[in-house]
Amino acid sequence: MTRHAIEIRELRKTYAAQAGEPPKEALKGIDLDIPAGSVFGLLGPNGAGKSTLINILAGLVLKTSGKVSIWGFDQDVNPRQSRASIGVMPQELNLDPFFPPRAALEVQAGLYGVPKSQRRTDEILEMIGLSDKANAYARTLSGGMRRRLLLGKALVHHPQVLVLDEPTAGVDIELRQMLWENVRRLNAERGTTIILTTHYLEEAEEMCDEIAIINHGSVIARDSTANLLGKLDTKCMVIQPDTPPERLPQGPGLEVETRKDGALAISYHALTTSAEDVLGAVRAAGITIRDVRTEQADLEDVFLKLTRSANAA
Ligand code: ADP
Ligand code: MG
Repeated sequence: MTRHAIEIRELRKTYAAQAGEPPKEALKGIDLDIPAGSVFGLLGPNGAGKSTLINILAGLVLKTSGKVSIWGFDQDVNPRQSRASIGVMPQELNLDPFFPPRAALEVQAGLYGVPKSQRRTDEILEMIGLSDKANAYARTLSGGMRRRLLLGKALVHHPQVLVLDEPTAGVDIELRQMLWENVRRLNAERGTTIILTTHYLEEAEEMCDEIAIINHGSVIARDSTANLLGKLDTKCMVIQPDTPPERLPQGPGLEVETRKDGALAISYHALTTSAEDVLGAVRAAGITIRDVRTEQADLEDVFLKLTRSANAA
């Protein structure tokens, strides 16, 4: 049996009405298990509810209803243990401008009740590449250094689960690579479960073993990265036949739809079927092609499609 680092049941969040704005239902009943030891991606467009979910896990936002367990500890029953099991690198830069990196890490460790003998401040400074800035004024740190310090702060209490909310949004390539290296190492060497949010498909693809796609406050897909990409690599070839066809093209993995204008829209998976296979099936059906073009789904289309199929199910 796989142990779950995180278990979420029927999780709902409605933000209270604000001046001129109606209440906002940000999470609409999320059920999600995240396997221990995985690198797990929460993928979704802006406004989907990713940060809300993360911030509830972190104890920064109060849920409206539902159940959350972290490392086996129910947030409501064992708030202290559940909080001790998770470290969060938030999306927003919320650093106290007065503390240099070393002091900021020490204060954070103190907040989490980590005894002096168990602190790894130097090791963390080294890991986030801030050893030589350990005592520099926070306001002299660049944006990239501040984000690295946020990562360090998330690690002071040796959490089993590390959550990164949009870790690479607006971050330069060098920092991105350093972040990924660190995260991979934590996962490989310490077995730390990693959860990251992103609105970039490629990022999730590169980093994550498993992905959940969230849109408008609901999980609309949840699968291994390989399976999900299989679903997402759908391409569509649109054939305008010379005369209305007597037979439709057939073949493994082909889905054919006749459009109003008589065009045949043939969907296929680019990983397993080539354009040549599709054209072959069209010719085999005795169809003469007058015109042909391809359509490729972008992430927005994919979200829409998955949302529609989720609604239909
Ligand atoms: P994501 O991180 O996926 O971009 P968020 O969780 O930040 O999404 O936001 C989900 C929805 O909840 C959005 O419509 C957002 O405007 C709304 N929202 C987020 N935080 C608040 C808040 N503090 N008060 C009211 N609405 C909020
Ligand atoms: Mg967010």
